[in-house]
Amino acid sequence: MGYSIAIDGPAGAGKSTIAKMVAKQKQFIYIDTGAMYRAMALYLLRNKIDPKEQDKISDKCKDADITIEYANGEQVVFLNGENVNALIRTEEVGNMASTSSVNADVRKQLVELQQKLAKSADVVMDGRDIGTCVLPGADVKVYLTADSRVRAKRRFEELTKKGEPCDLDKIEQDIIERDERDMNREISPLRQAEDAVLIDSSAMTIEEVAQTILNLCD
Ligand code: C5P
Repeated sequence: MGYSIAIDGPAGAGKSTIAKMVAKQKQFIYIDTGAMYRAMALYLLRNKIDPKEQDKISDKCKDADITIEYANGEQVVFLNGENVNALIRTEEVGNMASTSSVNADVRKQLVELQQKLAKSADVVMDGRDIGTCVLPGADVKVYLTADSRVRAKRRFEELTKKGEPCDLDKIEQDIIERDERDMNREISPLRQAEDAVLIDSSAMTIEEVAQTILNLCD
């Protein structure tokens, strides 16, 4: 087992940006577990699976071979051999990821992959259940959150920069719904691990948050 830093928190709290910065500083590998749930969601969407049909999700998820590689320090997610990095960042895929991630078979498959990756390297891993389920023995655990309006604004700016048309109120509504689902699902709900440090980034810069985590490692 390598050294591991677990970062959990709700949608849009800045987990991936911060995790990438910390990983770079520490020369650790950054593992984005949300991207794996998103790749699975893309597969289910392509196969026209209704998110309500849990049996079908359980059945179909086994045919999705999700693997991870690293190119120039960036995580690349492959779905049955296809690089899907450019296809998984839409709100549609995000919402499907949130509904299909309640499925026990989906979670089992992806948690196994995550634990395998953490065994072989020093990692910064972000997600919803890293400190509570995937890496309960992580060396540093952080629960990163921010006010839902602040998180919606950040996502709005991200999407606008990419030229994707979007609406701030709709984004905030989606974020609140997604949090609700992630926090209230039966299996590995989003919650702060008992030994995790709470960081509220509403009034903090990215650099301040990253530095706080680096200090925790020291
Ligand atoms: O973090 P991101 O928005 O990419 O995650 C998409 C969805 O995947 C989340 O809303 C959550 O439902 C699910 N997820 C999860 N467990 C993780 C990471 C993501 O259930 N470790």
